[in-house]
Amino acid sequence: MKLNLTTSTPNTIPEDPAGEHPVEKLIILGSGPAGLTAALYAARAKLNPLVIGGHEPGGQVSLTYEIENYPGFPEGLSGQALVDLMTRQAEKFGARIKLFSAVSEVDFAHGSPFTIKTDDGNAYRAESVIVTTGATPRHLDIPGERELTGNGVSYCATCDGFFFRDKRVVVVGGGDSAIEEALFLTRFASRVDVVHRRDELRAGQTLQQRAFANEKMHFIWDTVIDEVIGEDGKVTAVRLSNVKTGEETLYPTDGVFIFIGHDPNSDMFKGQLERDDFGYVVTDRLMRTNVEGVFAAGEIQDRVFRQVATSVGQGTAAALTAERWLAGREVPVLAATESAG
Ligand code: NAP
Repeated sequence: MKLNLTTSTPNTIPEDPAGEHPVEKLIILGSGPAGLTAALYAARAKLNPLVIGGHEPGGQVSLTYEIENYPGFPEGLSGQALVDLMTRQAEKFGARIKLFSAVSEVDFAHGSPFTIKTDDGNAYRAESVIVTTGATPRHLDIPGERELTGNGVSYCATCDGFFFRDKRVVVVGGGDSAIEEALFLTRFASRVDVVHRRDELRAGQTLQQRAFANEKMHFIWDTVIDEVIGEDGKVTAVRLSNVKTGEETLYPTDGVFIFIGHDPNSDMFKGQLERDDFGYVVTDRLMRTNVEGVFAAGEIQDRVFRQVATSVGQGTAAALTAERWLAGREVPVLAATESAG
């Protein structure tokens, strides 16, 4: 499918270091699928939403090479193409999207209007807020990982795969992300070894079948990486250990790609929004948080589904609830047992 993409042109964004601008009706934090969809719906409801987009426009999905399971695109499309389309659609109806500016501090404790400060020195106020700040890839926290990040250690195959043409890489993890990204890496690398701590994959069947059929893919089961080893500032090997036998091996490789899950970007809401034991913001089915007027959607509150399609649905629901709440209309009361974390 050929897509006609254009670069988005941001509308006028208030620069407001003193927080003196008029109070916004709705501010959306985050510019991934949940945030952009909330922006689309809010813009069409004439709420003139302001999106504070963060430093990774489009969020994690923009780093995905190909999305094959987003409805309406039978031939698939890149994450960046999908984000470009969503951005264009939200802006078409009047959403203002401020990129490369991230939330540094919020005040939700004193009720609406809420104050939001950003790391570029601005401050905004809003009657309502939709939080869609997403999640960040988890690290292994092993020796060598941090030191060699950017020099062989990576969390993004789309970004860095190109640098491993005809080289050997190791992929850590057994979920959908690990297998999808490992398959992508076979386009460049001469050999891809998936190192997984168990002897079966967590990834879906379709991906598994594709992975087992790919001759460049190899699997090292029941194994973890204890250390990433480098020479002259570049990855040269990993120290593997078999969790069943305890056997240790020095395994040569040029790169280590880590896909072992994510953590929600919710630290800035600590003490202000209710979070679960894993740090995900707790919402009910209407995407309401424990603070009236603050809603949340997408991976910041979803530990279970984590699909572009579910984030889009949650962004829609959050915008619809916010709109009702702003209009002073009744928002249905849900029984406590119906709420989800
Ligand atoms: P995930 O499903 O949580 O898988 C994480 C993988 O990393 C698991 O195999 C886990 O092992 C392993 N792991 C976790 N901590 C580890 C550690 N410290 N050391 C070694 N291995 C570790 O995460 P994900 O793959 O990022 O997927 C997240 C969600 O997004 C899932 O719901 C997934 O379905 C979805 N997703 C979907 C698609 C798609 O549909 N195309 C693509 C990407 C992601 P165990 O298996 O032993 O727990």
